[in-house]
Amino acid sequence: MIDRAIHQVMPEACDVQRAETLAGTLRLLSQHHFDVALLDRSLPDVVGNSGLQSIQNMAPDLPVVFLTAYKSENAALEAIEQGAQDYLFKDKIDGPAIKRAIQFAIIRKHFESTLQMQANFDPLTGLANRMSFEGRLEMALERMKRREGSIGVLFLDLNRFKPVNDTYGHAMGDRLLVEIGSRIKSCLRPYDAAARFGGDEFAVLIEDIAAPEQCAGIARKMINAIEQPFASSGIDLKVGVSIGVAICGAPLTCGREELIRRADAAMYAAKAMPESACRFWDGSSPVASQALKFETRDKIGLISPMSSGLARHP
Ligand SMILES: [Mg+2]
Repeated sequence: MIDRAIHQVMPEACDVQRAETLAGTLRLLSQHHFDVALLDRSLPDVVGNSGLQSIQNMAPDLPVVFLTAYKSENAALEAIEQGAQDYLFKDKIDGPAIKRAIQFAIIRKHFESTLQMQANFDPLTGLANRMSFEGRLEMALERMKRREGSIGVLFLDLNRFKPVNDTYGHAMGDRLLVEIGSRIKSCLRPYDAAARFGGDEFAVLIEDIAAPEQCAGIARKMINAIEQPFASSGIDLKVGVSIGVAICGAPLTCGREELIRRADAAMYAAKAMPESACRFWDGSSPVASQALKFETRDKIGLISPMSSGLARHP
């Protein structure tokens, strides 16, 4: 019936594929790209709205129109609350209603995705923003409660960036920040998180750390990458970076805010060095003190224990 209605109102536009089960739907989603899904509430292998969640996990950008019976309006509203873009009553379906629902769902999903991008990403560099970085960190800490290993937060603040803005203008400064963002990314594994916290401040989250050396290695790589000259409009620019590292191992000794504060504090200590440098937060945790063993060569050193209230760095 739906097939017929769709072909009637959108004869050219539609290639409709049908699955009889959720498993079949997920299989189709893994093989093809679709513009929209019409999801029947009563699939044989689905309880409640779990079908919607599975589809959203598999294809987060896919608009979904929920199909249910007129008497189940509450279920339809629930589906909207859980992220479906629109609903149709199966017993009141006609061509124009389906066409409207499909078009509405696609436009609305696109709008939602744009909002989501704006809410979670830094528009200049395309990296995560502070808020979504903190969310990632919170989830990483949550996972650590259930398994071994450590996570590291690296705080980066560029050196000599302000003169770039002052001398060559903000457009040049912005181009440099975009380039720095992609250089930071290039030093990381695809699943590590990198964020711009604002201005010339960046943060990186490294999960599954086997040893603190790993963070030192990444920091060293980022220093090298960031110090490479940047050429734009015939001008050669060179900036440096100060990096602070805080590592947190299981069992958890600190929360998200404390971990960020530690990395920030260590970065502030690195700022005191004349050149690009990396400093580990040297707390009393065993992981931090392990860093002592190797953290003295080239530009990487270890800070003495940080004390209380630190001023904001420039
Ligand atoms: Mg700075």
